[in-house]
Amino acid sequence: FRRSPTYSQLLIFFAVSGGGLVAYADGKSENEELNLSQMPARKKVVVLGTGWAGTSFLKNIDSVTYDVQVVSPRNYFTFTPLLPSVTCGTVEARSIVEPIRKIIKKKKGEIKFWDGECLKIDPVNKQIHCLPCVVPNSDGGGEFIIGYDYLVIAVGARVNTFNTPGVLEHCHFLKEVEDAQNIRKDVMLCFERANLPNIDEKEREKDLHFVIVGGGPTGVEFAAELHDFITEDLAELYPKIKDLVKISLIQSGEHILNMFDERIGNFAEKKFQRDGIEVKTGFRVVKVSDKAITMKSKSVGEVSESYGMAVWSTGIATRPVILDFMKQIGQANRRVLATNEWLRVCGCQDVYALGDCATIDQRKVMEDISAIFRVADKDNSGTLTVKEIQDVLEDIYVRYPQVELYLKTKQMSDVLDLLIDGKADAAKASIEINIEEFKKALANVDSQVKTLPATAQVAAQQGHYLAQCFNKIKACEDNPEGPLRMTEPGRHRFKPFRYKHFGQFAPLGGEQAAAQLPGDWISTGHSTQWLWYSVYASKQVSWRTRVLVVSDWLKRAIFGRDSSCI
Ligand code: FAD
Repeated sequence: FRRSPTYSQLLIFFAVSGGGLVAYADGKSENEELNLSQMPARKKVVVLGTGWAGTSFLKNIDSVTYDVQVVSPRNYFTFTPLLPSVTCGTVEARSIVEPIRKIIKKKKGEIKFWDGECLKIDPVNKQIHCLPCVVPNSDGGGEFIIGYDYLVIAVGARVNTFNTPGVLEHCHFLKEVEDAQNIRKDVMLCFERANLPNIDEKEREKDLHFVIVGGGPTGVEFAAELHDFITEDLAELYPKIKDLVKISLIQSGEHILNMFDERIGNFAEKKFQRDGIEVKTGFRVVKVSDKAITMKSKSVGEVSESYGMAVWSTGIATRPVILDFMKQIGQANRRVLATNEWLRVCGCQDVYALGDCATIDQRKVMEDISAIFRVADKDNSGTLTVKEIQDVLEDIYVRYPQVELYLKTKQMSDVLDLLIDGKADAAKASIEINIEEFKKALANVDSQVKTLPATAQVAAQQGHYLAQCFNKIKACEDNPEGPLRMTEPGRHRFKPFRYKHFGQFAPLGGEQAAAQLPGDWISTGHSTQWLWYSVYASKQVSWRTRVLVVSDWLKRAIFGRDSSCI
């Protein structure tokens, strides 16, 4: 491992780097000082969702300039990175949520919140159809419709079961606060059941077999939390059955935590081995029944194992409301809603999408580039000389107004430089380049640069970016040639979204964690766990949640975790 930076250096780095949702100063609402009815008609911005992306947008949007409304089935924001801690009572559920009304009340201008779920987006009539979450009374109060000038979709994603039979019926998910609370209850029920006097040893072993499907950060963190809960608290309370407990982590890939540097995956696997957590790599779950989980591996074939409780944490998929919207706007052949680099939904005016529900698409740009190269390749040979490609790039730069293409020319010349690197200067201009190979190299650069992880960091930065763009529209209109605007006609007014990575953590239990920080810094062990505590305390959305979370950690250190079945 590289030499890790000191704890205090990292703390300072995180304190100054920001990113994500930082705490806001508790200030007095200024709604009363503004007479909104006297203002000129404001554009209506409707936001769907109160997660990381939606809340970050709401905190940064100028709600005096815009009439902002938000619709969500959750009237609170959840600090998802601490959800695994809720499953075992290390942190209480209420400590990691903040009412959305508290967050929007602190803004100048009024933001309206509607407690409902968007069922349909109608981009033609610019309206959304919603169902209230509260049970309507007998006078009606069913579906309601809201019109918009701009729509910001931030509805996140649903759990991906890969259509595996039995998962929906028999597995827990870990996506919402309720999921974490249900897991906590079920863990305790498994212990109480296994402790009953009238059941045999085999049944006890079944009850105390906890299976986690998915070796990503959520699955690994839950396995670590559960192991800590059992060894630090439950072993003492259930001495007769403690030795029958088994935790299994099933992963289809060859290693766990494969989105991290492989040194972190190796560290985690070794730690879990020492802790007695069974890591089964190369296994794919094919069926879940009420009694057993069936999985397959290339080496062993199909095996079934009985279990007491299973948690499914294998990734995310698109929500039905978004799939329906994608059909309407010609994106039916895609798996995820595509936006351009300014987060506007491709093929749809005035609709933006951020966070886990969308991905930035480069396909359309590649299609345009292909068409331009086809025209340039007059003799249909499938090749162009370096000089000809340089002329094409110059041509795109001068003639084509699409900003995506314009920005791509820089990337294309970099790729071209890479392809002809090492060749003698004099000969470079006449080197023949295969167009398909050139496009492949370009797509490869794209996929490395553009595939953003589905994380809170990305979602929060996108929310902040989009709000800033909305806030600057007026300034751009007033100063069309000003510094915010690129000067050529047809160019985009704003820089495209660029993600800044501030690092990623994986808590591994036993007061140890692993972190991958910018600049390929790898840090593991006890000091990293302390860094984790500092970062997650500092990233809380309000002083209230910060105090609650820190006091939960202290309570746990002093009194242990609560093992009641409530
Ligand atoms: P969400 O935060 O999921 O928010 C979606 C919002 O949309 C919710 O308010 C939801 O109620 C609402 N909604 C849903 N359907 C509708 C509808 N039809 N109409 C209106 N509103 C709707 N990321 C990290 O960076 N670091 C971590 O340590 C980390 N740990 C995680 C741990 C767990 C257990 C989980 C589940 C996730 C973790 N993530 C982490 C990932 C991170 O939480 C997500 O990437 C992030 O929440 C995505 O933000 P979002 O705003 O797109 O979606």
